Amino acid sequence: MSNLSARTIAFQAQERNVFFHILTGCNLSCQHCYINTEQHGSNTLSAETIAKWLKLFAHPEKKTNLVLLGGEPTLHPELPFAVQAAKSLRYNTITIDTNGFLHNSLLEKINPHDAVLSFSLDGPSSEVNDAIRGDGVFSVCTENLQKAVQAGFEVSVIYTVSAINLAHLHKMPSLLKKFGVSHFFIQVIGLRGKSAENSSEAPLQITPKQWLDTVPQIAQEAAESGLHVIYPKVFLEENETFECAGNVAENFFIFPNGRVYQCPLCEDYPLNSHKIENDELITRDGLTEKNLFSLNIQEGCVMNKLLQGGNIEYLPSGQPKHRISCCLLKQEISPR
Ligand code: SF4
Ligand code: SF4
Repeated sequence: MSNLSARTIAFQAQERNVFFHILTGCNLSCQHCYINTEQHGSNTLSAETIAKWLKLFAHPEKKTNLVLLGGEPTLHPELPFAVQAAKSLRYNTITIDTNGFLHNSLLEKINPHDAVLSFSLDGPSSEVNDAIRGDGVFSVCTENLQKAVQAGFEVSVIYTVSAINLAHLHKMPSLLKKFGVSHFFIQVIGLRGKSAENSSEAPLQITPKQWLDTVPQIAQEAAESGLHVIYPKVFLEENETFECAGNVAENFFIFPNGRVYQCPLCEDYPLNSHKIENDELITRDGLTEKNLFSLNIQEGCVMNKLLQGGNIEYLPSGQPKHRISCCLLKQEISPR
């Protein structure tokens, strides 16, 4: 019997995930950044507003997981306050997604038991990572993530796979084990923000074959080395049913201009299903992402078809070679 447990993480009706961008400002300028200030705003929310908005999404009867992000959330001097506010509202888990700079002496201001720190690292060396995230970033990020581990934080790493760094993914598990990282999230390059804009000049996207030939195998090796690994499903197997998270799960992506989306692929368009106005959550009328969630197409995810329909491969019968899963559907492999 394998000493690994592998499963698709099914959408849970009783679970909510809240992704709260408390600002869009950042000290870096990564090649694949999905922040789009025209669509998401460029303001930094005040502590008072953060507390009010956290209250809008807290739910006493449902497990609600919170991810605080930006921009770079550690640039916000009130981030420790946001963690405390979320804790008092009884959010189930609190994660901070950081580029590794840990501004404002974050490690000294947050109790390691109150939040998980998730570091973005896109290569096993400065050569690979810094080509994507900027000069000097690898050394700052890896130094700080080790400090966080030593301070007792649970630390995870997010690696966004693109054409630039796919060939280096296999070197990550041993590096992360050495650093004491417990969770490894492999992400696929998105179709949002800069990676969508730059797609014609320097293509970052990878093919289905590249993904399928590489990522599941490396995820398995990473889990064998003791890491808890999560990666997007991307392609559905024949026996798997397509489900759109917009219909069967509760995910909220909140931006500082008050837009609230349910689907991350819609974030470059004014299709948000909700908005926050005067600190109240309002469901929008008219054409929103909700109108797309109910469309049933043979290719699977409607937004993927709209954004990169040309990349979908078809069989001679006209059937798509692969159905594309919801981008929020994850595969998990972990040591038993
Ligand atoms: S660290 Fe994050 S928010 Fe900042 S530029 Fe990079 S991807 Fe964008
Ligand atoms: S990624 Fe596709 S399937 Fe998932 S919520 Fe968006 S539209 Fe629905």
